[in-house]
Amino acid sequence: MIELTSISKSFGGTQVLDNVSLKVAEGRVTALIGPSGGGKSTLLRCINLLEIPDAGTLRLGEAAVEFHPGHRVGWDALQKIRRQTGMVFQNFQLFPHRTVLENVMEGLSTVLRWPRGKAEHHARALLVKVNMEHKANAWPATLSGGQQQRVAIARALAMSPRVLLCDEPTSALDPELATEVVEVLGKLAGEGTTMVIATHDLRLASRVANDVVFLEAGKVVEQGSSDLIFGAAVEARTRRFVSSIN
Ligand code: ATP
Ligand code: MG
Repeated sequence: MIELTSISKSFGGTQVLDNVSLKVAEGRVTALIGPSGGGKSTLLRCINLLEIPDAGTLRLGEAAVEFHPGHRVGWDALQKIRRQTGMVFQNFQLFPHRTVLENVMEGLSTVLRWPRGKAEHHARALLVKVNMEHKANAWPATLSGGQQQRVAIARALAMSPRVLLCDEPTSALDPELATEVVEVLGKLAGEGTTMVIATHDLRLASRVANDVVFLEAGKVVEQGSSDLIFGAAVEARTRRFVSSIN
């Protein structure tokens, strides 16, 4: 499980996250929604410590880190947290000079030092999961955006992370290609993959997430079940945001 408690983060005097708390239970999916600049990506990056919060605590599985202004986080703690996360980006970020299969095998071979046969077997199984096994030997540049994103998802899952973090996984895609990605994420959710997804795509959020956090100007305005946030939000700002996009 993931637990963020009172996380705050500033960039050069501008507070971007203000006392944000969030829990994601094992096997659940949380969507982060809200206006542009509200802090969704920063919050995701605070979960894998691509950004170090100024204050608050983060628990991920057995690992726990407390943040204090001006204090560095030790290498061990960083590694303990990062090893439990996989990340999917808006623009896929596949390795262009590696095939689809090699992209998925990369971490298994170079970080875990698995023998080739074992890494390939595992990578192929992940490609089946994201419906991309037929492109195992293709180069990333020859794939559609939706296909590239599905490979990126397989790659992020390769090291068996405790949580899959997705930052706008569908926003670089045409609606039809976004649908492929929504379907794959929905299937992973159904299999019990724990995920946190920052997205403007409310269809993705409502189809895949159990829980939704509405972030605005660095603060949690409202959080609750997907049914509550999309159907009966308490806060007027949440209702306005949800209806403005639908
Ligand atoms: P979007 O919906 O556009 O993706 P977001 O909700 O993901 O927005 P963030 O990217 O987290 O928002 O940004 C929150 C605020 O933090 C913005 O004002 C942004 O300019 C600022 N910010 C983010 N990263 C940095 C950084 N590395 N340095 C300075 N400011 C930053
Ligand atoms: Mg963002």
